[in-house]
This record gives sequence, structure tokens and C-alpha cells, in this order.
Amino acid sequence: MKKSKETSFADYFKEDIFSSSEKPLLEWEPPAKERDWTPVIAKALLASEPEKNAYWKLLRNYFLTGKKTKQSVPVHTQPLLMAPYLRGKNLDTGYPSFANTDTGDVIPLQEHLLSTFNVVFKEHEADILRQNLPRLDVYVRQSLDANGLPTPYLESILEACEKLREFDVRGDEGIHFRDNLLKYQNALSRFQGFILSFSHRSPFELQSLHLSHRNARRQMACGSVKNIHRLLSERLAIYSADASTDKSKMLNGNFADQLISIEKLADMVPEESHSALEPARLDRMMRCLQTLEGAKDTLPSVRPKIFSTAELIQDYNLTALFPESEVIQSEHKCFVDAQTAISEILSVVSETVRAMRTAQLELTDKYDAEVQELYLDKLDFTNYTEEEFLLLQTVLVILPADMIIAEELERFSKVLSVNLPIRIVVLDGMRATESGEIYKRELSALALSHRGAYVFQGAADTPSWLAEAFREGFNQAGASLWSLMVPEISTSCNTAFLQLNAAAESRYFPRWSYSHSRGIRFGSRFDISANAQPEHLFPYYSISVFVDDKKVKEKVALTPADFFYMEMEDTEKLEIVPPDFETDELVPLDIYLDSAPEDLVGMVPYIYLLDTKNRLYKGVVSYAFVNMCMERLDNWQFIQELGGINSHHVDQAIVWARQEWQVAKEKEIKDLEETHRAEIDKIRREEAAKALERLADVLLNLDVSAPASSPKNKSATPPTSEVPTVQEAAPAPEAPTPEVSSEAWVESYKCTSCNDCTNKLPAVFKYNSDKQAFVHDPKKGTYAQIVMIAEKCPALCIHPGLPQNPDEPGLEELIKRAEVLN
Ligand code: SF4
Repeated sequence: MKKSKETSFADYFKEDIFSSSEKPLLEWEPPAKERDWTPVIAKALLASEPEKNAYWKLLRNYFLTGKKTKQSVPVHTQPLLMAPYLRGKNLDTGYPSFANTDTGDVIPLQEHLLSTFNVVFKEHEADILRQNLPRLDVYVRQSLDANGLPTPYLESILEACEKLREFDVRGDEGIHFRDNLLKYQNALSRFQGFILSFSHRSPFELQSLHLSHRNARRQMACGSVKNIHRLLSERLAIYSADASTDKSKMLNGNFADQLISIEKLADMVPEESHSALEPARLDRMMRCLQTLEGAKDTLPSVRPKIFSTAELIQDYNLTALFPESEVIQSEHKCFVDAQTAISEILSVVSETVRAMRTAQLELTDKYDAEVQELYLDKLDFTNYTEEEFLLLQTVLVILPADMIIAEELERFSKVLSVNLPIRIVVLDGMRATESGEIYKRELSALALSHRGAYVFQGAADTPSWLAEAFREGFNQAGASLWSLMVPEISTSCNTAFLQLNAAAESRYFPRWSYSHSRGIRFGSRFDISANAQPEHLFPYYSISVFVDDKKVKEKVALTPADFFYMEMEDTEKLEIVPPDFETDELVPLDIYLDSAPEDLVGMVPYIYLLDTKNRLYKGVVSYAFVNMCMERLDNWQFIQELGGINSHHVDQAIVWARQEWQVAKEKEIKDLEETHRAEIDKIRREEAAKALERLADVLLNLDVSAPASSPKNKSATPPTSEVPTVQEAAPAPEAPTPEVSSEAWVESYKCTSCNDCTNKLPAVFKYNSDKQAFVHDPKKGTYAQIVMIAEKCPALCIHPGLPQNPDEPGLEELIKRAEVLN
């Protein structure tokens, strides 16, 4: 649901009324202290198993046949989400709306009052007036027509401002307040239009306002015809005068009476015009003049034509609603009559447009017969400029959906196929029958299959959106269809509004529009954004309920069943399950509709119902209605797909893309592992070869009197306090305890050059020319640091030796840790 900034009538005196919350339309959060308003889930006494089984047998029978059990709880209920509104809670609406006749825009009145205020005053200016805007809004509403007819805007605003001026504000503040009010009133008075209240006639009032706005613009377009006619007359008069070389004769010529002033004409005449006109050109210009002569007089007087049935003309009082139009009763041939009417209009307008274009080219001496003749011959309304298109007067057909389906389906389809600019309003009823036959007849979907037509489906509960749809449809260079849901005329306005809103929000009659001119790609032409939570199968609302005296939140979906069972008499057809017999096999309807058949064996769907004492029950929906809900859900998914939301093909493409990515990633990881393994093997082989080489060096250059270290591998052997000679070491085997180096040292040949030690303790560890670590100065680091680095060395080739500083704390533990590394 498009959030509107308006609030309802009962909210006027609330503080900060215009900064309305962004809560979902139907979110119902009763005041915390009003215990009675919060639904309570009735406690179950728990029936015995045999009793339960017996009841469930009957319940399943109800589900299949619709025959209620005797145990069904005999209470009056309403669907939970609908109940607060059916009991009088106010619903935010876009009414009253301000219809601006200058621009054709329709916006909620509050939005208009606030936006105008914000244009006139800066943020902290006119605070008293700002606080009293709700009061002004109330005064305007009080002045609205009691029968719901459009109220002239200016009168209403001036009256409301006058009342507000009497507001008791004294002293300097009072002077400022009245000054500001005057400023504000002047700003508001710059607008013209009507204030609309919601009624059964609302769609037609909006349409009538749009037609009237279009007519005003059309008169300007007719003015252009007159203007071109005048210029052409003047030009021909000059040629005529030029031929006789006596300008004074012009006043007596055929076209003298068309002239405005000789001076003006002299300025307009190009040099080359003094030459005589070719006969073909003169003839062409004369023919244009003749056409424009007729058009300038006839076109402005052509009125919009509205074809409808006697019943609709009477029920909606169409003649009064469309005072500028010809309302024609045309029972069973509306489409034929409309087609005849538009063909006649098209024939006049196409001649006129051709004459206008030719005249414009002639007036600028740019007409080239070879180029333009064929082009102008083929020119049709789909290539008209906006102004030219306005010359086409409106032809509108208003019919009930039932009648089109029963009698006019073929002609309806033909009109859409031919795609002439005929405007069609289809009025759809509110309710499906028990057999569900009505709900499959969407004419909007049928119109969509013709692709060229503009299609809109919605209702008058969203006035701004509907007004925009009328504007878009009337400007369409082709047929337009508005499929509108309308309530029974006898329904009260509040209930009617609620019905329209619930029908749209529950997905029974979703809002959408399609315009061929919105884009080249088919999907880009749809708009389904006016629906509540369009990304979901159903809109969900958060409701507080009491369960065992504890308040908990329940997420409740608004389904077509909630819409159907809005009225008390309807819920009486539902089986209301006694709480004693509730089991886990009762499933919320939204979940039931979204589950696979194999998961639904033995399950029965329900919707929440509220009785007059605010007790919450589960009402089981019979199979026939489940079927209807399924069909509505299917229709909604069709609309979602068209609107590019929850598209099966997109989802499928995402799954495939993810699978492809996963396969590619796994291959990449495998390749990396293999490369890594090969590298490790290579390093291992190379290191082994180097080690053997060094061993051979050591053995070949064995010097028993010197420590076995080379200058390159300075720390390859442990530095001991007393380096034993080979001879001295010879008797050592008797002492098995390994000798610990007095200093840290590195078995450099094992070093893998990981940089860890050299980075962390660069003063202690350095690389030799083979980029293998050795101990440069063990005293430049603490024993604790050296032990820690030795522990982390991936090659385990660092040996911490013995501590260099006997006063270093924690030596005992560090020496223990170093033992395994030495
Ligand atoms: S931490 Fe070990 S492997 Fe790494 S550079 Fe130092 S000695 Fe070589």
C-alpha cells in the first residue's frame, strides 16, 4: 500500500498530526492499557482423544463440503485484521483530496496544506500557525459538500482561514499569527480546483476533472489551428497583393478581412515572396487554408463523447458528473458507436494536422513536395505531437464487466486490437460467488494480451494513483482501459472504502498498470508498486494478542478469505473450531496456500476471527474458498512476475549462476591445492638436495679442531660455552643428556624463509646470502620473545638455547618451554 501522509478524521486533534506514522495501513496495535481491545486466545479445556477424533472427522467433512458441524462455536465474528475497521477504527485515506484544475494533479488535502505552508515559511517560522494546521484541515473538511460532491477549493479555503482567524491568540503573538495567516491564505489562494471526498462516484469525479483539464488544454491546441490559419491567410494575402504590386489593394482582396495590421505583415514577408507563386504551391496553400478554415470553427465545439448503459448513466448520474461531455446511452453497441465516433473525429483531425504541418512548412518556405507529400499522407495519430494529439476529442465507453463478458467480448477485443484511441472504463463488482465463477474474468488481463493498450487495474481508494492513471491513459496514443473495482451503490462510504482497500491488499483485486510507452522491454512497462508489500505473497501485519494472560505478537496475513468474510453474515458460514478441539493440523491459510500438496495431507486451513468480546477463534475455510484463494494467489503471482518481483525465471537464473560459480570455485580451489602441493614437493626435493650437498661439504672438509659451521651458516650448529672437539666428544656417548646451546641458534638450512622471525625480531634474526635465517645477536631480544618465535617457526629450526639475562622474569617456565625446542 502506498503510504499516504493523510490521517483520518478522528485523528485531527492529535499532536503532530501531519507527521503521520509510517505504520502499515492495517497494523493494529491497541492502546496498552485498554485490555479489552487486545484479542485474547480462548483457553482450551482439552477434549479427550476420542472426542477430538470424532470432531475432526466432521471438520474434514466441512472442509470438503462446506457443511458446518453442530459443535461450531455459535458466535458472531469478523476477520481479525478487518474487525477494528469494521468497528469504526479509522483508516488512513487519501481523502479529502485537492484536485488542482490547473495542473490536473490530485493530492491529499493535508499534503497540499503542509507543502504550501513549507513553501511560504521556513522551519521555525509561524509556529502557532503550523500547530494549528490540523484545525484548518478540520475547518476545510467541515465545509465539504454533505452529499460527497466536489467542493470548490477556493471557497472552502477562504472560509476555513476566516474561521481560523477568529482563533484566540492575543498580544504580539496574535498580530504575528494573523499576519502569517494572511500570507498563507494568499499562497493557498493561488491554486484553483476542487476538494474531493470519497464516494461511489469518486472514480468518475476524478475522470471528469481530468477531462475538464484536458479540454482546457485542447482549447489551446485549437487556438494553434486558428493561429496557423491566420498566418496562412496573411501570407496568401501578401502574395496576392504582391502580384498586383499594390499593397493598398490588399485591403480589398479576398483575405483582407483576415489581416491584423499591414505593418506587422510587412515585417513577416520574406524577400523571395515577392516572386509569383507556382500554381501547385498556391493550390496546396489554398487547400490547407480551406481545411483549417473549417477546422478552426468545428474542432473547438466538439465535446467528449461518453457511451454507457441507461442503468449506469442513472446510477452514477453521469450526465451531471460530465457536464462538458455528451453522455450517450448505447446499450448493446457501445463499442461499435465508440468506434464510429472516433473514426469521424480521426478523419477531421488527420486532415487538420496534415494541413497544419503543410502550412507551417509553406510559411517557412520549407515545403518539399517530393519529401513531405508521402510522409504527410502516411501520418497518423501515433505520430502526432502532444498538441496535435489534444485535437482528438475523447471517446469514452463505460460498461460493467458482466455485460462485456456476456455480450461484448468480441467487440471489446477488436477495439483493443485495432488500438484506436478509445478510452474504456470497466466496472467490476466486489464479490465472487460461492462457485467462484466471477473471479476468473479479469478484463484487464485480457486487455494486456493485446499489448498496445494502456491498462490499469485499481479503485478509487487511492485517489492520487487513480488520477495519475487517468492522465496516463488519456495521453496514450492508442486504446486505454481502466478496470475499476466498485462497491455496491447501497454500501456506506466507510464500508465501501474498506472493501476496496481490503480487496486490493488481500490480493483479490491487486493494483497494477501497464503502459506500452514506459519502455522497450516488456517488463519495464509494468508498475505494481501500489500494492502492500508487493514482494510477498500476502501482506503481513503484526498483532498483539493475549495468550494465557501474556501479551505476544502474532504475524497475521491478509488473505482473500479475510476480504470475503468481512461482513458478519459471511463468517457465519465458516466453521469456528471450539478451542478444545484445536490441534496442530490446523494451519494458517497463508501457509496452507504456500505449501506443497504432499505437506498438506490431513491439514485444514483457518483464518483468525474475532468475536464481539475480543476473543480470538480459528475459522476453517472450506475447500471451495481455498480453491478461490489459490486462484487469486496464482493471479497475484502472475502480476508479480510481470512486475519483475519473485520472478521464477530470475530465481532460476540465480540458482544456475550460483551453481556455476560454485563449480568454478571448487575447481579453482582444487587447482590451487595441486599447485601448492607440487611446489611443496619441489621445495622439499630442493631442500633435501641442498642438505645432502652441505652434509657432503661438511664431511669432505671435516676439521675436527673447529666447530662444524660454515661462514655462510653461522648458526648452523649450536654455540656452546665450551665447544667440544671430536676427540673430546668421543667418550660422550655415555652421557645421553643432549647438550643445550648457551645461545639461541638456527638450523639455517631448514629455514623456509617465511620472514616471521626476521620481521618480528630483526635485531636478533637476519638472513644469510641464501635467504635463510641465522641468529645475528641473541642479546637483542628477550628470552621470552625468542622462545615464542621459536615455537611459531614453521620449520621448527630455531633453538632458543639458554637465557642471556639471568634476571629476566619467568625464566623457569620459559626454559621449560624451550626444552622441547633445543
Ligand atoms: S621463523 Fe623459522 S622458517 Fe621462518 S625465517 Fe625464521 S627461521 Fe626461517
